Amino acid sequence: MSQLPLNLTLLLVAATLVFADPQALTLPTFVAGQVAALIILLLCAAVPWGRLPDWWVLVIPLLDFVAVGLVRSGAAGVLSGLGLLAVFPVMWLAGAGRRPRLIVAVCAFASLLMVWTPLLIIGDHAPHTFVAELVVPLMLVSVAVAMSVLTLSGIAQQERVEELLARSETRQRLLDTVLDTVDVGVLVIDDSGTDVFMNSRQRQLYLTALPPGADRATEPELLIYRDGSDALVPAAERPLGRAIAGEELNHEVFRLGRGPQARTVSISAREFRDAAGTRAGAVLACTDVTEVVAAVRARDSFLAAMSHEFRTPLTSLLGYAELLQEDESLSAAARSDLVVMSRNARHLRKMVDDILAASIEGSSPDVQRTKLDLARLVRQAAASAAPDAESRGIALRIEGDGELPVNGDKTGVVRVLDNLVSNALKYSESGSSVTLITERDGEWAVCRVQDEGIGIAPEDLKRIFTRFQRGSSALRSGIPGMGLGLALAHEVAALHGGRLECTSEIGVGSVFTLRLPLAGTGHDGPLPAASAHVDAVERSHASERADDGAS
Ligand code: ADP
Repeated sequence: MSQLPLNLTLLLVAATLVFADPQALTLPTFVAGQVAALIILLLCAAVPWGRLPDWWVLVIPLLDFVAVGLVRSGAAGVLSGLGLLAVFPVMWLAGAGRRPRLIVAVCAFASLLMVWTPLLIIGDHAPHTFVAELVVPLMLVSVAVAMSVLTLSGIAQQERVEELLARSETRQRLLDTVLDTVDVGVLVIDDSGTDVFMNSRQRQLYLTALPPGADRATEPELLIYRDGSDALVPAAERPLGRAIAGEELNHEVFRLGRGPQARTVSISAREFRDAAGTRAGAVLACTDVTEVVAAVRARDSFLAAMSHEFRTPLTSLLGYAELLQEDESLSAAARSDLVVMSRNARHLRKMVDDILAASIEGSSPDVQRTKLDLARLVRQAAASAAPDAESRGIALRIEGDGELPVNGDKTGVVRVLDNLVSNALKYSESGSSVTLITERDGEWAVCRVQDEGIGIAPEDLKRIFTRFQRGSSALRSGIPGMGLGLALAHEVAALHGGRLECTSEIGVGSVFTLRLPLAGTGHDGPLPAASAHVDAVERSHASERADDGAS
């Protein structure tokens, strides 16, 4: 293919001579040149170049100089400029991209030989004729230089592209290996929702979600349930559909498949964009949490059973300790010991209550709101905490009067208030004071529990409403607790459409603010189902009270 352009051009030259000077066609040198070009073309086709070292083929362009030289001198009297035909072999040599300097030197030498040999043969040794013939070699050398530079930069560019390609291939393989090694199912879909990639773990999960007996299914046919429900997830709520619609999913729990094979998975989804920033699809990650969920359930049912069993004897102990305190025949010292016993028993019961509430969350949906007066409940909470405050040497004050009507779950709200007041006392020093402030703030009924206690460090404040989180100052002081009460109180406030917030300063004190929507403001509709734990705790307590009464 590299040789053909020269041969075709030589044919055109011959055709031109037919019109210009047919006689010249028979000149022996011209004919020899054309024949040489044909023989070279045959060589190109006949020699198995693939089996020879690849630079051997460069013999062909070198031979081309001979053919061009013969044609040029054969038709010299009729056609001028034929020496430029050597541009074909020059481009071939320089385009080979090896030893550029040597190639330029060879081109220069070969083209000089091509133009000077005829002079030497005819015996014209006049210097000016040698110089006059230099034009063609100079042009050919320029072409060789330009061609070499272009070829070399092209080669460098190609090497760079190959290197990038190799690197991206390695990265792709690494990614494939990682995705097939991790225990997380990964599914990539394009913008139209078509699967682009699915790792082996995801394939297993897909098989789990197939209807019984099927070996494939469309997405709507897959058995996907919300955890704890036997109704298939409706199309609009399915993770894939939501991911296609551009929604982000954060660790949402679903159950795939039915029966003993079913797996519980936590699914997250993020959209991804191409280099131009256009939405290109989404990635879904599915983590199998079956064992974790089973372990959490086992833990919760153990905690529920354990705390339920603890509560009955504890309530009885507390009741008798309080009864004994009223016994006039006991010495003052014995009575003060009983106060300590009661306080610790109460503390123990609160911990048991918290564990019970945390462990049976979400088990029953029927909670009814009743009309409550938050201010009254605050006064009651203060009254029941008064003995504890007195024994700790802390002044417990109430500010604010008037009603604060709210629609709420009495047990839940009472537990929140008890929790805030008992914390304020627990984390305060003797001699300080705790103030309970009730007030209206727009559409909110507000209760602030303000203390002058140890305070909470700013980094702890962020996590203070998370279960089992305790502040560093509380841990340092060695004050016992489990870090459950505030988390539960926060949940109860949220279930009422309200908020529980805290501001605090180490060594200065803390203010916990409970906001509940005032009755009739339109924010106090029926409680959502998740408030179940409040109800469950209440029912559990009711059964214990019945137990106690019976005993
Ligand atoms: P517990 O008191 O059983 O540890 P809580 O959930 O009631 O659990 O409280 C969580 C943490 O918040 C406590 O461990 C304590 O560090 C901090 N905390 C709560 N109330 C106060 C308060 N009034 N003053 C200082 N720290 C508090």
